[in-house]
Amino acid sequence: MRSDDRAAYHPSMARRAAPARDRADNLGYPAPVERLIAHLSALPGIGRRSAERMAFHLLKGAPEDAERLAASIRDAKAQVGHCATCFNLSESRQCAVCADPRRDRSVVLVVEQPRDLLAIERAGVFRGLYHVLLGRLSPLEGVGPDDLTIAALLSRLGPRPAQPAAGEPADAVREVILGLNPTLEGDGTALYLAERLAPTGVRVTRLARGLPSGGQVEHANLAMLADAIEGRRTME
Ligand SMILES: [Zn+2]
Repeated sequence: MRSDDRAAYHPSMARRAAPARDRADNLGYPAPVERLIAHLSALPGIGRRSAERMAFHLLKGAPEDAERLAASIRDAKAQVGHCATCFNLSESRQCAVCADPRRDRSVVLVVEQPRDLLAIERAGVFRGLYHVLLGRLSPLEGVGPDDLTIAALLSRLGPRPAQPAAGEPADAVREVILGLNPTLEGDGTALYLAERLAPTGVRVTRLARGLPSGGQVEHANLAMLADAIEGRRTME
């Protein structure tokens, strides 16, 4: 990398390369290609250079390949939405987890993204329900509580009966497990949620630190997830 940088700064290289680059910048690619590059580079983690490589790859390939990609984007967008209850990805109003009558409806595990839910489901170590926040609080990126599904989580818990003796519905949520990633922002989100959940009277726990600090729920292996759920602790 470093030798490339040096080469790029070599005066003779610069003299040779600059006019060609300027010309390309002035002319630009044909408008449809520029539009494609602009849309691709708007995707997370894709810079201008990667977007250009993708665009050229598509232009070079068979028309059917590009058509299939376009169709899969269109279909996914049209056919998949968020579960009305937990915000997991779903082709119907309720996702497969929420619709499963065998799940324990008294425990709700809160995760950041559908991919975290999927990782825990694959491990097969949790039999309750989920709530997907669709992100985490990030003051630096301007992500506040209203940008997440926190209001929906609170309304899922429902109004608690004033007197426990009056009885709760059989499927009342009794415990919320905070399964956020052990990152600075995940921890901040967990603390915020614990505060918001405290008045509801629901038991609030968080996953044990079986997860490596700074690690991600989606990358944890089966044993780590099982330990994290088994060893969960009450939030202070
Ligand atoms: Zn659901």
